[in-house]
Amino acid sequence: MALSEQQLLDALRPVTDPEIQMSIVDLGMVRGLRVKRGRVAATIALTVAGCPMREEVTRRVRTALMAVAGVKEVDVELTVMTPDELEAVRRRVAGAGAPAAWGQAGADGGHGHTHGPGGHQPLGHEQGRANPFGPRSRTRVIGVGSGKGGVGKSSVTVNLAVSLARAGHDVGILDADVYGFSIPGMLGVDEPPTVQDLKMVPPEAYGVRCISMGFFIEEQQPVIWRGPMLHKALEQFMVDVDWGDPEFLLVDMPPGTGDVALSMAQYLPTSELYVVTTPQPAAKRVAQRTAYMAKKLNLPIRGVIENMSWMSGPDGGRQYLFGEGGGAHLAGEIGVPLLAQIPLDVDLRVGGDVGRPISATNPDSESARAFAGLASAIVSKGRARVFRPELTVR
Ligand code: ADP
Repeated sequence: MALSEQQLLDALRPVTDPEIQMSIVDLGMVRGLRVKRGRVAATIALTVAGCPMREEVTRRVRTALMAVAGVKEVDVELTVMTPDELEAVRRRVAGAGAPAAWGQAGADGGHGHTHGPGGHQPLGHEQGRANPFGPRSRTRVIGVGSGKGGVGKSSVTVNLAVSLARAGHDVGILDADVYGFSIPGMLGVDEPPTVQDLKMVPPEAYGVRCISMGFFIEEQQPVIWRGPMLHKALEQFMVDVDWGDPEFLLVDMPPGTGDVALSMAQYLPTSELYVVTTPQPAAKRVAQRTAYMAKKLNLPIRGVIENMSWMSGPDGGRQYLFGEGGGAHLAGEIGVPLLAQIPLDVDLRVGGDVGRPISATNPDSESARAFAGLASAIVSKGRARVFRPELTVR
């Protein structure tokens, strides 16, 4: 049977752009597909010239096309989008099916299904979908990012939130770390949100409300599908969740930046970023990438948080297991303060594992005091003063 262009396009649909994490077909990156006697020539338009991910894009396209029965050879030619095409991508990424997110997420992904409150008519589609985190909102949106996973970003987010709540602030967490939705577990929340008056009401623990994509996807859902689903869900998490006008909304961002940073820059004009790193120089390099991306998106980075800085012995002596100075050096390079150094603490890890954050259960411990210090440093910094025109949420 002759291969059709449609077959090849269908095979490419699940292929995502490694940075934007949306289908390259939906993004309009597939410029041309020609097939002759099992030999496919694909032209793919990248969003930026000299894209660092070009090899990865090529590899993904080739793998997807080679998997189609009858394809013997694949040639991938890369080109670059025009400014107009790029603008179309930007609009697409910003609005990605947002108004009908729950209804589309499962169907688009093609795998699994969401069990969010909906799947039929999008919540509040017709009216009242104002973005509560617009430029006049009182909420400070605090993005917590890192260059790579495992540096303790989620632990920092949870304990910072609990410390802010203990200091009398009204706090929510939006768990957007697509690689592992760890916030509900760390907060000890296992109930999904309830629905009231067509809005999702986030569950609350230790004075912190939280919404996680983890509530709505199957655990076995492959990460490759999560990116696009999350992106669509993010806007809905802003407009269809009854956040109740918190003073702080902490966003646990996926490591390595990408689309979540883009959504934040567009939808959350009051966003400010904090970068978590460990003390060794290698971690610093990856955190630098986050910093670079934030600069490109005009998201202000306001501070560095060093985690796993040392281990305190019973005699008060410190052991620097992961080296020293990574946080201070990174902060110096970005030109922002090093706001906290959080020690290694077994009780902190155990607290995360069992859903009892150390900042709530043992506020006098060394690590909980470091989180309390971080919270007050962030409060006293005040809002970021960056004007970014808000994107209208339909
Ligand atoms: P990330 O969100 O960056 O992937 P996590 O917050 O999930 O990282 O942390 C990874 C692991 O390290 C978790 O088991 C967590 O409990 C542990 N951890 C994080 N920070 C500390 C710390 N300061 N002391 C001890 N364990 C920590």
